[in-house]
Amino acid sequence: MLSTTRVPIPLFPSTCHKPDEPAAFSTLAALARLGYKYSIDRIFTAAIKRLKAVFTDDFQAWRAHEGRTTPLVKFTRNDAIEAVNLFRKSNQARLLPSALYMCCSLSVHTLLHGAQRADGTVEKLALNDLERCLVAQQKIEARSTAFNHRMLDFSDPARPACVARDSPTCSTRLPQLLRGLGDAVGALGGDAGASTRQQCLRVFVETHRSPEMRETLGLCRICAEYVLSSDLLFSEELWHDLPSVLDLPVSEWH
Ligand SMILES: [Zn+2]
Repeated sequence: MLSTTRVPIPLFPSTCHKPDEPAAFSTLAALARLGYKYSIDRIFTAAIKRLKAVFTDDFQAWRAHEGRTTPLVKFTRNDAIEAVNLFRKSNQARLLPSALYMCCSLSVHTLLHGAQRADGTVEKLALNDLERCLVAQQKIEARSTAFNHRMLDFSDPARPACVARDSPTCSTRLPQLLRGLGDAVGALGGDAGASTRQQCLRVFVETHRSPEMRETLGLCRICAEYVLSSDLLFSEELWHDLPSVLDLPVSEWH
């Protein structure tokens, strides 16, 4: 803590004490900075506790939102840069991997030029964190490419056998679906730096959570489940390896 100066407790910390209402990331970050700067532990702790809903160190909690707005925190991906700088400054080492991982989904342009905070300040990553993210993007892209090749390799003996009876079978349908979803994601103007393949797969996986959509898209049950379970495994392994992917030692990461 930098100071023990006493200041009047402001009215707005009530945002942190309404468990059923989402709080804006910008508000929580401002509260955390204020609480840290003036050593107001109650405010700092409440803000960080709420931010942990997004910047978690737990895979299951991460999987539930994967960097998107949660019922507790309203958040955009560009906020991840501000989050990294906040956690660096306030020594929240366990929240850094998820925040840096979110930064890896930003475009090179955003990473280089920064993102504007709610108060107009432009937040940029420190040079070492910028390098960390750019290198990690390449590692994640390589993993994603290998994963997608595996998904489309129907000759893999370890793959469960397709049970589609009618043409086109899944070996024809799945590449078509992934390409079509890629075009759709591109048309939506997704962030240029995020892996299109990852975005395609994310849409694919979410779509296939609905049995009706699974039938409409024309994949057999076995292939749809194979892609879903493989995606979960991919995400788990990547999460487990985050400290090494980000070159960021974190003790007892799980
Ligand atoms: Zn199939």
